[in-house]
Amino acid sequence: MLQEALRKEGAGWTGASAIIVAAGTGTRMGRPKQFLPLGGRPTIEWTLQIFLEIPEISEIILVMTADNIREHGARLASERIRVVEGGENRMESVRRGFEAVSPEADLVAVHDGARPLVTREIILAALEEAYQSGAALPAVPVKDTLKKVASKQLWISSTPIRSSYWSAQTPQCYRREILEEALRMFPDDKKATDESQLVERAGHQVRIVPSSNENIKITTPEDVTIAEALLAKRHLGLRPEIRSGFGFDIHRLVAGRELWLAGVRLEHTKGLLGHSDGDAVLHASCDAVLGGAGLGEIGLLFPPEDPKFKGIASREIVAAVRRRLDERGGILAHLDVTLLAEEPKIKPHYDSMRQSLISLWGLEETRMSLKAKSHEGLGEIGRGEAIACYAVATIVLTGTLHSQRKE
Ligand code: MG
Repeated sequence: MLQEALRKEGAGWTGASAIIVAAGTGTRMGRPKQFLPLGGRPTIEWTLQIFLEIPEISEIILVMTADNIREHGARLASERIRVVEGGENRMESVRRGFEAVSPEADLVAVHDGARPLVTREIILAALEEAYQSGAALPAVPVKDTLKKVASKQLWISSTPIRSSYWSAQTPQCYRREILEEALRMFPDDKKATDESQLVERAGHQVRIVPSSNENIKITTPEDVTIAEALLAKRHLGLRPEIRSGFGFDIHRLVAGRELWLAGVRLEHTKGLLGHSDGDAVLHASCDAVLGGAGLGEIGLLFPPEDPKFKGIASREIVAAVRRRLDERGGILAHLDVTLLAEEPKIKPHYDSMRQSLISLWGLEETRMSLKAKSHEGLGEIGRGEAIACYAVATIVLTGTLHSQRKE
């Protein structure tokens, strides 16, 4: 489409740049939405992939926070993706992105990093319209009847005529000089929620390109479910997968140490010897979860030879494992733990240990099982020289891209 338009018009168009704004710090869903996993892959990577598949886009300016640049910048940057640091609000981030646009670009598309379901067709249609008329954005007609509410008490003041309202999406596309002029005319505008309103205020006409309801912005938790379903439809191999992970740990019981089990400190004359607090229950359960998610083992996350982890509380290890699981798009569905200890007697501590596991792993009551057994006096455990633990974790990976699996 765009290239046909270019051929009609002859030369003149030399390149389109895409500014992808992913500098939001919104923590409504626990982390910035552009990094929420969809099908085991961060949202922003789905977004970038679509733009990378369009050869007419000669460069992508990815605007992120300094923290995200430190964490993801090196991985995401490439020949076509330039990473720049964003500002305090969306408009400031767009400005900084625009400053990085190369002088050859005639058209600039500004896109939300949290809109991973945009399509090649939507992007090219918006670019083409911007090429023809100067400024264009994809939008869909509003589906629900709108109500204007004027008071905090939620009284409706009027009902606008629905047919004249559209929901604006991105990429919003502009001839370079038009966006430049709008950004220059309103340098202090911090509140604008899209660039188009600055372009409109600057006196330019902006044209709507009818788009698709699938081009949603990931904003609330249910959007993740919807986005995964839509991605599953597009990539037929994307489906949830259930996996099991197994973990085992054993520590020597020695005098002069605190005894920690399942994140609870037990009164006892001895404690478990270890680089950390020696909590065999938490270590076995961490290994089970990591194993089920295909993420290795705690020895890799917290190498025992690394002095900075010396004496670390095992609850911190659990927190790190939960973060890794979440990044992988995994959910811990069930944890089954069997503790082997001759002494101390576990029974008086059983309830607090079980509650501790439930809370450390963020599980519902029914998704956690703890069993404690003696070792019938047999072997090192039976002699009270060691405590051991087995754990089995059931992990649901919310979506796994089978179609992209390397065979
Ligand atoms: Mg251990």
